[in-house]
Amino acid sequence: MPGSEFNIIQTFFTDLARSLSDWQGNSDIVLGIGDDCAIITPPDSQQLVVSIDTLISGVHFPEQTSPEAVAHKALAVNLSDLAAMGAEPAWFTLALTLPKADESWLTSFSSVLFKLAEEFNISLIGGDTTRGKLAITIQVAGYVPQGRALLRSGARAGDIIALTGPLGAASIGLDIVLGKNHNTYQCLSDKQQQAALLALNYPSPKIKEGLLLRDYAHAVLDLSDGLLSDLGHILKAGAVGANVFLEQLPLAESLQCLELEQAWERALTGGDDYQLCFTLDPEKWQQLKNIAPQFTAIGVITDTHELRLLNSSGELFQPRNGGYNHFE
Ligand code: ADP
Ligand code: MG
Repeated sequence: MPGSEFNIIQTFFTDLARSLSDWQGNSDIVLGIGDDCAIITPPDSQQLVVSIDTLISGVHFPEQTSPEAVAHKALAVNLSDLAAMGAEPAWFTLALTLPKADESWLTSFSSVLFKLAEEFNISLIGGDTTRGKLAITIQVAGYVPQGRALLRSGARAGDIIALTGPLGAASIGLDIVLGKNHNTYQCLSDKQQQAALLALNYPSPKIKEGLLLRDYAHAVLDLSDGLLSDLGHILKAGAVGANVFLEQLPLAESLQCLELEQAWERALTGGDDYQLCFTLDPEKWQQLKNIAPQFTAIGVITDTHELRLLNSSGELFQPRNGGYNHFE
């Protein structure tokens, strides 16, 4: 973006990043935006946890999505990965590809980006700015005490499987945005439809919950593609199976237009919920539940290598759709 690239970086990212990191006083950041690289001194006896995610217009969000929602989602999905590792957010970099230098779009984008960054105490330390179809890549880094990161592996037969909150709202939000499957949201009030749209566009990363789980969980991941497909990763990594009890699934209020079986199907296969799914020793469950009453147990880990969905009569349930897979 000749000519305007430096102005964009200065106006919409550098100044805001500086004032934010001054305010946060993050002593690990020796040098932020402006040189060829940033410089970080990681705190003693902490491990660096790093992840990156790209959001492409028309692929990961509908083209008409607001700059506010794009900014929030791009950072929030990355923070969600840190949450799933039990990491404390530290810093991020931003690679921005823009079709044009649209000042009002950039103002909205950067104000929401920095608002979320401030809320989660994470600093922007660098990036790249190019011209092309709208795409946002954010790389995040966080810290965990040596050896304390929460992995997908580690689930043991007998563990309880639990979630940090309800499922399915974001998938209804997507129906509303795309104007499809009217029957899934027709019965919702305007306010309830707004809630489904908020769930889709403004997911809240479960950082506090991830930090809490350091003392409880054997295996953790965040739900981006749908419970069925994501829980599959925990089972594969731990070489275990699971029984999931359908009546125990925490169904979002947004699913209330659906018949029970359809609601289960949405809760199992809808994407973009960004709850944490974790397993823990049953003896620790009550203690955790006392601290975090919103957490819900949904099943148990088995030694069968199979994922079984069971209703209260013990019958197997087979959803039609297996969850979102980018290459299917
Ligand atoms: P280089 O040519 O060395 O890659 P750039 O001109 O791309 O340098 O970037 C100059 C500085 O601005 C670097 O410190 C870079 O990290 C930062 N930067 C560029 N784009 C962004 C952005 N979108 N957000 C934050 N920092 C950025
Ligand atoms: Mg560059």
